Amino acid sequence: MAIVWFRHDLRLHDHAPLRAAAQDDSLLAVYCLPSAWLATGPAGVARIGAHRLAHLGQALAGLKAALQACGNDLLILVAEPASALNTLSAALDNAPIHVHAHPGWEEREAIAGVKNTCVHEGGGLFDRHDLPLPLDPFPTPFTHFRKRLEAAQWPALSPQPAPTSLPASPALPDNLLYDARSAATALFANSPAQADARSALPYAEPDWHGSEAAGLAHLQRYFSTELVADYKATRNGLLGTDYSSKWSPWLALGSVSVREIEAQRLAYEDHYGANDGSYWLWFELMWREYFQLLMWQFGRRCFHRQGIQTQLSDSSRKVRHDPAAFQAWCTGTTGCDLVDAGMRELAATGYLSNRLRQNVASYLIHDLHQDWRLGAAWLEHQLIDFDVASNQGNWLYLAGAGTDPRSDRRFNPVRQTAMYDPDGAYRRCWLPDRFS
Ligand SMILES: Cc1cc2nc3c(=O)[nH]c(=O)nc-3n(C[C@H](O)[C@H](O)[C@H](O)COP(=O)(O)OP(=O)(O)OC[C@H]3O[C@@H](n4cnc5c(N)ncnc54)[C@H](O)[C@@H]3O)c2cc1C
Repeated sequence: MAIVWFRHDLRLHDHAPLRAAAQDDSLLAVYCLPSAWLATGPAGVARIGAHRLAHLGQALAGLKAALQACGNDLLILVAEPASALNTLSAALDNAPIHVHAHPGWEEREAIAGVKNTCVHEGGGLFDRHDLPLPLDPFPTPFTHFRKRLEAAQWPALSPQPAPTSLPASPALPDNLLYDARSAATALFANSPAQADARSALPYAEPDWHGSEAAGLAHLQRYFSTELVADYKATRNGLLGTDYSSKWSPWLALGSVSVREIEAQRLAYEDHYGANDGSYWLWFELMWREYFQLLMWQFGRRCFHRQGIQTQLSDSSRKVRHDPAAFQAWCTGTTGCDLVDAGMRELAATGYLSNRLRQNVASYLIHDLHQDWRLGAAWLEHQLIDFDVASNQGNWLYLAGAGTDPRSDRRFNPVRQTAMYDPDGAYRRCWLPDRFS
């Protein structure tokens, strides 16, 4: 008997814990949404908001269906994970719990609180214990890290195939974790997707659902179009579904493995030849990898105001407590049109382009002089692609508390507007009250 504890890896393909547990004669697959995510966080709202919940619900429904097709099932809970997993293991003769390692601090602490775990690597492109450069001291800046990997032509690990059949689930007593099961059923039944015709990532539509099946289909579509070759030129776009890959929500849920993406990117280059776009997608995946390693290396320090630096950055020294300014930022009512348009898009859709994320974050830090961690918490609530390492890493970077060699990077909203929304199409779309 074995347990697979799904967390940010809601898929069957490239899943080492599932492959290991499938060797047993009976397998319990479980997902446990931490109840702490529903409590009010530092931004004054639940850590997981309506968009994230709906999108996660799609991924869990897809995972459940995929497990059922293999002869298994998925138990979904809302509870404190360590306590729930220990209860399940005890009820199943101390069954081992197979789980993926994850760089998030909370995720690491959760594993530390669970007995009988078998922890498997697998969230990144590489084996973090086997890299062509030391991680201590941490390779800064990012360019140094990327160039070392490129010079070594360090290959990404290959994805493992999905199983086609699995052992059946063990029977559990009806009343075991009854409240946690009921809470999950009620939560996801009451978390519908919110459609908005303007969305750059319309996750209410089946093609954009958070499930593994939708993610793999999206990947296949993406690599069969011109979008890859055009990526470097279009990636700073603001409107429509096509300006960037839109892989991030599936990567964040783990319903698509980053190794699967890289395998398909290489297959694309084999077939069509490498181009600027296909290279730049690799470049961006390196950022993701870098921020994961940063969080592995610095753990809890990524959540401190001074971040991984030994002293506060200039912007952090200027922070003043102003709840009204933070509220105006969250609701898109600061008076700065580009920023307000971005914050309204985020609230309406749960997604925002990278260009606008940089702008809204810079504005909160450098113009409104608010604590960057409040902004990170607001994005945690909103983003359907929320990923703790990428979110924290980017905020640290912009606040001068991470690894940016140009400390305290401010984006000038006037210049950014002229460069990226010269005809006002983006502001008209999201601020119809100001631009008729
Ligand atoms: C303040 C701020 C907060 C962010 N929070 C998150 C977050 O919570 N989750 C998240 O996945 N990304 C985050 N990002 C990074 C980036 O904005 C998104 O990954 C990207 O916009 C997702 O859209 P895409 O998949 O179309 O990206 P593409 O441009 O198509 O890039 C392809 C992939 O590369 C990776 N990538 C690209 N840029 C970055 C980056 N700067 N950092 C890390 N990985 C990157 C992502 O996995 C992305 O899916 C944040 C950026 C900023 C400035």
